[in-house]
Amino acid sequence: MLLLEKYFALLSMLMVPVLYIITCSLFYLLLYKWKPQTFQAKKIQTQSLAPAQLRREISYTIISLLIFCVMGFVVYLLQRKGLSRLYFKLSDYGITYFIISILLMTLLHDTYFYWTHRLLHLRGWYGKIHIVHHLSSNPSPFTALSFHPVEAFIQAAITPLIVLVIPCHPIALSVFLLYMTVKNVLGHSGYELTGNYFSNSKFSRWRNSSTHHNLHHFYAKDNYGLYFTFWDRWMKTLRNKSDN
Ligand SMILES: [Zn+2]
Ligand SMILES: [Zn+2]
Repeated sequence: MLLLEKYFALLSMLMVPVLYIITCSLFYLLLYKWKPQTFQAKKIQTQSLAPAQLRREISYTIISLLIFCVMGFVVYLLQRKGLSRLYFKLSDYGITYFIISILLMTLLHDTYFYWTHRLLHLRGWYGKIHIVHHLSSNPSPFTALSFHPVEAFIQAAITPLIVLVIPCHPIALSVFLLYMTVKNVLGHSGYELTGNYFSNSKFSRWRNSSTHHNLHHFYAKDNYGLYFTFWDRWMKTLRNKSDN
């Protein structure tokens, strides 16, 4: 049995929680504790982070991480029952598909996130569930998983969904989960850290920046996407800094 297959249950359950704990902590310490002066010019909203907000976000994040852990176990169960499309031998699909599968996972998650996020903004859902995430109108790295448990369940369900529909190697899935984590934490960091070259490139039009998601928290509407602006452009829900 391959080493990955042997320890897959552990990898599956702990991957997302460990990635989030490390990424949230590093971004928080760097931007809010160690070097706030260095990055001051890149802060999107100028007011400082209230300790009460941070305490609330960390409490909800702990519950969310437990839910992500349970969903990781669901992924393991799907694999054990032969219901997942995970494969463990790289040679089964080849290296080109390995790379394509990461892109497919990102596109599926972007679509899933956009439409579940739109759903969570409907009147009945917003006040009862999504409001927890929007209590942070000036987000911090710990806002990334500051969810009502129902929303945490909806967001964590992307991993079982992926392994059900996309043939993927556990390492490709891990690369995708790392990208997902960094993108989500960066989008809530409160800072726009991308340089001018990246911001002005022709691809930036389709990329969801930290500023986009920060505007979503400030206005509590528009900019529902996670990685890309496709869906926001197509559904006419895109808001730029210059819009009011
Ligand atoms: Zn958010
Ligand atoms: Zn929202």
